[in-house]
Amino acid sequence: MKLLPRRQFIRNAALTGVSLGLGTSAIWSTNLWAANKLKPSANAALIAVDVQNCFVSSGTLPVPKGEEVVPIINALGRVFDNVVITQDWHTAGHASFASSHVGKKPFETTQLSYGQQVLWPDHCVQGTQDAELHSDLKLPKAQVVIRKGYNPQVDSYSAFKEADRKSTTGLAAYLQARGIDTVYVAGLATDFCVAWTALDARALGFETLVIEDACRAIDLNGSLAAAWKEMTAKGVKRIQSSDLI
Ligand SMILES: [Zn+2]
Repeated sequence: MKLLPRRQFIRNAALTGVSLGLGTSAIWSTNLWAANKLKPSANAALIAVDVQNCFVSSGTLPVPKGEEVVPIINALGRVFDNVVITQDWHTAGHASFASSHVGKKPFETTQLSYGQQVLWPDHCVQGTQDAELHSDLKLPKAQVVIRKGYNPQVDSYSAFKEADRKSTTGLAAYLQARGIDTVYVAGLATDFCVAWTALDARALGFETLVIEDACRAIDLNGSLAAAWKEMTAKGVKRIQSSDLI
């Protein structure tokens, strides 16, 4: 048997799912092939989720350390041919705002027509500075911006489908028309808009990878662990930016 150099063996093992005494998901979740970077194909797209003023420290719905993803996502953008940006884009008085429901406070829940909804502080209102993309976000290759959550009565964590699980944003059809078969997801927040986007991408048949350190989480009542558990169970792969850059 020809012995492969260790680095080459590890890379081959990782790509074929051969066990190194770890499960396949564990292989994906580590940096075993960090010296051999993943190279996104021409049919892959980076989806930069909701890197907006509202979700960083000075915003109306700050994700802890949310601004830390900006330089990482800028660097990631340089290794992709295709980049998609999403923006949370609510009407004033949106149904997902606690202020729209008498007696409710942010982070409580309520029942809307499509099911349970977490209630948030007013955030990302259309046309406001708060809803703008972070001013340091530099993704010159971005080809489309998907705005979501603009239906006054329906929230949309996912870049693909609104919270009623019926209304589409059109992103899947756009990516399919462009021949994109793989998406790498990064941004804010891991346990809400990133996770819902990744889960929908996977359900729609896209190979889906979440770049963990290019995301930050809200982690509401264990939501971060729950999100990773569900993403892993559904076949979403978990990688680090160092696997790519
Ligand atoms: Zn929102």
